[in-house]
Amino acid sequence: MTVRDKLCPSSKYKIKCPYAMKPEGICIHNTANDASAAAEVSYMLGNGAQTSYHYAVDDVEAVHAVPNDRNAWHAGDGGKGAGNRRYIAIEICYSKSGGTRFEAAMKNAAELTAGLLKEYGWDISHVKKHQDFSGKYCPHRILSDYGWEYFLNLVRAELGEAETPTPVLTKGAVGEAVKKLQSRLSEWGYALEIDGSFGPATLEAVKEFQKKQGLEVDGSVGPLTWAALMKEPSEEVSDVEKFADTNGHWAEEIIDELAAMGIVHGDGTGDFRPDEPITRAEAAAMVRNAVKYVTGK
Ligand SMILES: [Zn+2]
Repeated sequence: MTVRDKLCPSSKYKIKCPYAMKPEGICIHNTANDASAAAEVSYMLGNGAQTSYHYAVDDVEAVHAVPNDRNAWHAGDGGKGAGNRRYIAIEICYSKSGGTRFEAAMKNAAELTAGLLKEYGWDISHVKKHQDFSGKYCPHRILSDYGWEYFLNLVRAELGEAETPTPVLTKGAVGEAVKKLQSRLSEWGYALEIDGSFGPATLEAVKEFQKKQGLEVDGSVGPLTWAALMKEPSEEVSDVEKFADTNGHWAEEIIDELAAMGIVHGDGTGDFRPDEPITRAEAAAMVRNAVKYVTGK
């Protein structure tokens, strides 16, 4: 990624960046717009409003608009606020629509952030979000589709302190990570269109997968669900026994769950016979299966 200077002319300092600044950290924003970094900066420097920031970043470049030793008006925390007076503001472009273009911009912003951390000798605690200063839901796209920790992990990956992370995905998310989720779910036997959009069908598949894996069924794809998805699909789990005679029985759901865990099985004819007694041997086998499910041994 290149960093290009398109710095505020000193004639406009009075409006855009009136105070000298010794920066203390970095404040991350989303533009809530679908314009490129160059277009964002042209607009910002060309208008008469105070609103300003130090960098705009898109999928190809970062454009440097306000010198880092001058303040910018971005954090909504007032004339003497820490955000407005001591933080370097980075606007990440294409956040209105999100998706792959936004993800590329977010990765470039992580690279720029990591570079600034190194330059100033700061650790990750110096990276804040707009929300930390004023409560505004910004960077909105990061917060809604990926989670703040995901962005911090992107920065850590740029610093060489972590692997490139997988984001927390919930309904409404879009982009490459959602495609990856959908293709993993497909490999686990869920028929899904790989369209990169986390809609109702993907949500259903995620919940069903979580249920069968014994995970919390919240429809949110976090670290545990990712870890389970990345395993080799197991025949035993994806090919769950379905019984002909449990439909509508009060214990149907319990029986299905235990069958998915491999703890109970049918009678070999496709029936479960939910109201029949079991033998001591069958009881022993069920306990053994349950111990194996819990301990893995
Ligand atoms: Zn913001």
